[in-house]
Amino acid sequence: MGVPVGLNWGVLAVAVVLAVSLATVSLPVAAPNHPSSAYWFAAVVGVLAFLGSLLGHELGHSWVAGRNDVRVVEITLWLFGGVAKLEGDADNPGAEFRIAAAGPAMSGLLAAVCAGLAWGLDAAEGNTVLVGLLWWLALVNAVLAVSNLLPAFPLDGGRMLRATMWRRSGRKRRATRRSSLIGQVLAGLLSLAGAAVFVWVSKWSGVWTVALGAFLFVAARAEWVASVPQPELMARAVGGLGRELPAPLPPGASVADLERVAAAHPGVPLLTVVDPSGRVASVVVPDAVMRIPPAQRGVVPVTALTEPLWSLPRVHPSEPVEAVLERLGRGRHWRALVTDGSTTGSVLCSEDVERVVELASS
Ligand SMILES: [Zn+2]
Repeated sequence: MGVPVGLNWGVLAVAVVLAVSLATVSLPVAAPNHPSSAYWFAAVVGVLAFLGSLLGHELGHSWVAGRNDVRVVEITLWLFGGVAKLEGDADNPGAEFRIAAAGPAMSGLLAAVCAGLAWGLDAAEGNTVLVGLLWWLALVNAVLAVSNLLPAFPLDGGRMLRATMWRRSGRKRRATRRSSLIGQVLAGLLSLAGAAVFVWVSKWSGVWTVALGAFLFVAARAEWVASVPQPELMARAVGGLGRELPAPLPPGASVADLERVAAAHPGVPLLTVVDPSGRVASVVVPDAVMRIPPAQRGVVPVTALTEPLWSLPRVHPSEPVEAVLERLGRGRHWRALVTDGSTTGSVLCSEDVERVVELASS
């Protein structure tokens, strides 16, 4: 699938612990009266299948991420399972939900397949060590599916919760803030449960659970801090938010010239054109090129597509975000020239201002 897969050294520790417990406890109990070499061989196979199960879970995420146009940078298997590192978040709650759900769904599927194979092999009176191993793998995958569904952001279940809240309110940042708060609470409870396990059940499982809870807490806390509202940003001057404009087009420029300059400056919201006296007099949006058939773009002057400069609203670089929004409107699409009265170097886009509003509130 074109996704690099890495193994952290912590996996080695997990592999050794699992192999020892499989070979000396789980398999001898599930299928007695076999030589220890058989248990050890099955344990090594089991550990490899366990790593394959972790990888399968992450590939489930990756496959659905790819189908939703989110690139997977890499997959890493480490002490607490696997991590599929995505290049950014999904841009809509539906995609986020599907990507998050795909991992547990894959684990559930693997659990069902292993259980089916174990049941079939058992019915056919196959090798009992193999039957025991398959049941163990079915259990491991079921645990992977269920534990990842815990609604503790950033676990898969927490991501599904965030996507649900995001869809309901339309506000991703607020959804992140709430789900990461729930994530911190659940991580704390998990650590407490781990402490109880440590005291009354098993030292190893207790330490493991406390460590997992602490790791989850730190991850949820980081997301929570990153989504803290910053209301002071509303008083920030809009000057620095403007997008740099390329040099103005000359008065005699053609539509083909506009096309060339726009291609050299991808993402530029508009271009300026000077009049014969050398003053910036009009503006044109790059997309206006589409209105002219390609064969005519070399001969049609760009002035056929321009609009007068005064048709654009103006903002002063020192004007605060709040004031600009009040004047030009929230939730609307607009472009404004950033000018201090003498020089015009940049253009302010409504989406850049909305991004500040998003950071300022939650
Ligand atoms: Zn997952």
